Amino acid sequence: MIGVTILGATGSIGRSTLDVLARHGDRYRVMALTANSQVDRLYEQCLEYRPRYAVMADAAAAEQLVQRLRSVAPDIEVLAGVAGLEQVAAMPEAEYVMAAIVGAAGLAPTLAAARAGKRVLLANKEALVMSGRLFMDAVQRSNAVLLPIDSEHNAIFQCMPRGFAGGFEQVGVRRVLLTASGGPFRTMPLEQLAGVTPEQAVAHPNWSMGRKISVDSATMMNKGLEVIEACWLFNTVPARIQVVLHPQSVIHSMVEYVDGSVLAQLGNPDMRTPIAHALAWPERMESGVDSLDMFSVARLDFSAPDLNRFPCLRLAVEAMEAGGTSSAILNAANEIAVESFLQRRIPYTAIPQIIEAVLAETTAHGAETLEQILADDAAARAAAERQVGLRRVTH
Ligand code: NAD
Ligand code: MG
Repeated sequence: MIGVTILGATGSIGRSTLDVLARHGDRYRVMALTANSQVDRLYEQCLEYRPRYAVMADAAAAEQLVQRLRSVAPDIEVLAGVAGLEQVAAMPEAEYVMAAIVGAAGLAPTLAAARAGKRVLLANKEALVMSGRLFMDAVQRSNAVLLPIDSEHNAIFQCMPRGFAGGFEQVGVRRVLLTASGGPFRTMPLEQLAGVTPEQAVAHPNWSMGRKISVDSATMMNKGLEVIEACWLFNTVPARIQVVLHPQSVIHSMVEYVDGSVLAQLGNPDMRTPIAHALAWPERMESGVDSLDMFSVARLDFSAPDLNRFPCLRLAVEAMEAGGTSSAILNAANEIAVESFLQRRIPYTAIPQIIEAVLAETTAHGAETLEQILADDAAARAAAERQVGLRRVTH
């Protein structure tokens, strides 16, 4: 039996992971489940999956979970805080760690899993955007196995030659074609964007996801973060990555070779496919995802992204090219801007404005240490809060 820790078990990816694991109870044992503050959901998951550990990042929530589990499942040990998250990410009982916490909060436990040499199933792209070099170095040093869960990166991984270790030239890869749905506002008249609501922004046409990544998909910051993620995972540069708008989300990404061959991975838009792929790799196993019905798909469309409509995509590529902590600053500003939009404190169109202003006023440094990355992350968050104050909407 392979022990699995799920960081962010109560979220969209966490629940899809549990769905896949439940189909293969003979192969995997759920060792630890973690959540931020959703006591009810983690409590129910504990009763259903009987992990050895349950972690709540929030201390008061952890105390509530202890009380509720005491009479029904006293064998489950409840831990709290970042220390608890790091403990279950690095413990010997779990060989595999699903990193599915959203945002910068996932960095420390995901890094702990990498340093402990786990098979890291990486959904938490923000961790890699913040600390790409540090993270990839940790993976290499500990012999961790890093497998992408993000559907595009999982598709690229599947289209790369087996054993690809970085270096497009050596294996004859010319470029990566990173597909993007374009989100809910792909065709909305630009002048209407200022009035869009959080409800409209989180209603993704093809994928059901957490709120933060849904807004990121609407602004295409998600694709920008994915360009950065792809650069680190596949050891390349933004110039080798072409973003392709593909509204059906059936092709999850492609790899082009020097002989003109283009390999694509296709499937229904359901995260259980990349999750099952990464759990079973290099084998294959059932995920619960239906067959792709080509006759109902009928057609596939492609176009180039419009950077006037999606300034966040441009900002992300520029941050990656600038290097150092620029992408951590971008990520931090984006997290504050998206949260403020979801709280209806700023209009949708202020999101890229805030990020651009924060990038202009915050000094980036080399990203060699976690301390420096976290210091610049904090500076960017403070700058973003000031920018939110300047752009606040009045109700
Ligand atoms: P979600 O909001 O549904 O779930 C987030 C999880 O993180 C929850 O379990 C929550 O309790 C936990 N969490 C939040 N803040 C925390 C904190 N401060 N400390 C500890 N835990 C915390 O998000 P999601 O859609 O499942 O996305 C998770 C990650 O996977 C994100 O990085 C996202 O970009 C990435 N991802 C998601 C999808 C998708 O289909 N949902 C696809 C690709 C990549
Ligand atoms: Mg993706």
